[in-house]
Amino acid sequence: MTLPFDDHFHEECGVFGIFGHPDAAAHAALGLHALQHRGQEAAGIVSFDGSQFYAHRALGLVGDNFNSAEVMNKLKGHMAIGHNRYATTGDTLLRNVQPLFGDFSFGGLAVAHNGNLTNAMTLRKQLIDIGCLFSSTSDTEVIVHLIALSKHALVEDRLFDALSRVEGAYSLVVMTDGMMIGVRDPLGVRPLVMGKLGDAVILASETCALDIVGAQYVRDVEPGEIVIVTASGIRSLHPFAKQPKRFCIFEYVYFARPDSVSEGQNVYETRSRIGAYLAREAPVDADVVVPVPDSGIPGALGYAKESRIPFELGIIRNHYVGRTFIEPSDHVRHLGVKLKHNGNRAILEGKRVILVDDSIVRGTTSKKIVAMVREAGAKEVHMRIASPPTTNSCFYGVDTPTRDQLLAANHNVLQMAELIGADSLAFISLNAMYRAVGAINRNPASPQFCDACFSGDYPIPLTDFENAGGGKQKDLFAEV
Ligand code: AMP
Repeated sequence: MTLPFDDHFHEECGVFGIFGHPDAAAHAALGLHALQHRGQEAAGIVSFDGSQFYAHRALGLVGDNFNSAEVMNKLKGHMAIGHNRYATTGDTLLRNVQPLFGDFSFGGLAVAHNGNLTNAMTLRKQLIDIGCLFSSTSDTEVIVHLIALSKHALVEDRLFDALSRVEGAYSLVVMTDGMMIGVRDPLGVRPLVMGKLGDAVILASETCALDIVGAQYVRDVEPGEIVIVTASGIRSLHPFAKQPKRFCIFEYVYFARPDSVSEGQNVYETRSRIGAYLAREAPVDADVVVPVPDSGIPGALGYAKESRIPFELGIIRNHYVGRTFIEPSDHVRHLGVKLKHNGNRAILEGKRVILVDDSIVRGTTSKKIVAMVREAGAKEVHMRIASPPTTNSCFYGVDTPTRDQLLAANHNVLQMAELIGADSLAFISLNAMYRAVGAINRNPASPQFCDACFSGDYPIPLTDFENAGGGKQKDLFAEV
């Protein structure tokens, strides 16, 4: 199954906004640095100083681009929003780097988006037909045009007007010349938290971005909530029809940083609980529990504690290469695993090893790691995965490949074990995972989380995907 539209539309991102601080841009840079795990291909900050907006966007890491006085001194003002971006395949174009900015009849507006819109292609075609000129291939740009076209006077009404036409997952941080706005989609698929630093108000994808600037966590922005921050205070609107929350369960599996608190749950503790439940569901007689670092560590610790089998670092990770998955080409991804991990023979030789990772997507990582552990002398390798089989692609802002590339979509567990070369393989069940993330069990009639990647139950229509007539989005412009 291939997507009928361009892969540019799949983004994993981090957003940050700060209102009412004399050093807003520097704080935004720090916040984005803490959120770097959510996107490593590009970053941008837009600030406002009371009379003008200033923007700096660049390909690459936050620390490499927002590190000089030359750049930071130009980002003047008491408010700033920022964005970390990761697009799966294809070119990362500078013109796609957020925050996007537009000149409107009411003034300037910048927007940073985490998530993915599922009817962006359909809307884009309609908007082009009525004369809108798009300058990026980002799904977020349809929101900018819809705001411009809205007949309402107030920015928040225009924003709601625009959002009532889009489908998909979105956590947005928006900035105008007098306000910062935070929005979560009605199901609350992607995270967004609010914090305070003195009198300044902060919005961020995760609490780790509050910690880095010394801000206090106030609360999560609620699903369907629009939070408006101005000099006279904070207002909260709930204009969308109320729907049951469907927070992305994969944030707990892999995406969020372990020191963040998502929807009231510490991510590290949650992952460790998933590992413990996995040990109960899929025990195996072995000598050592070894995580695939770093993503498998909390799950492996939970597994080891529960099974009372010693936890050891049998695989050492080189931290000076990016995440394998984050590398856009297959070739580099292939090389990546070898660059990143090495078996620790002292720990593995002659041992029956339980290898714990958070997920199997394509299976490339597991296959290489299992072979590596055997080469380092392991007698048996039992793979345990701290999430259910990933059988479906995500359309809501987590990068997963198309179904034909998902190992679990095309093979049963026994076949997968054989393909990755493990003596045994087991995944945690979806119900046990629900218990680990704080629910009693999965309610099949109305699941408490978005778990489409594991269940195929998509809570938001996949309009572009189903609308094959939408055609492939052709990139007409190349930045050279
Ligand atoms: P694969 O080699 O495709 O099976 O990838 C599995 C590995 O990728 C696991 O070790 C995960 O930690 C990691 N992973 C899972 N989902 C993602 C994602 N959306 N982005 C980046 N890495 C991921």
